[in-house]
Amino acid sequence: MKVSIQEAMEAATVNGAHVLCDRCETGLLIEKAIRTAFWRGEDLIIIRNIPAMVCPFCGEEYVADRTANGLDRMRAAGFASTGSADRMVVPVLNYIDPGLSE
Ligand SMILES: [Zn+2]
Repeated sequence: MKVSIQEAMEAATVNGAHVLCDRCETGLLIEKAIRTAFWRGEDLIIIRNIPAMVCPFCGEEYVADRTANGLDRMRAAGFASTGSADRMVVPVLNYIDPGLSE
């Protein structure tokens, strides 16, 4: 997830123009809600429903400055003020050295 091509994204929001992906210069970005994860000590925090523009070709994700600022604010607050919307169980695996499994 990176912050880039802000002016093009804002223009696209206003007039529905197509925005070419900055990374692969092939895909046209589409609006999509994405998710990301942060570590808070030993806890893994997942933020979902993040508004973004996503390249269907290479998968690069772009967020507006406002969105990046919102995520920074949530992180700075220790994710405390938002409360927990949901919980999920994730598998936790021990690393296996490839030399031992062959
Ligand atoms: Zn792309």
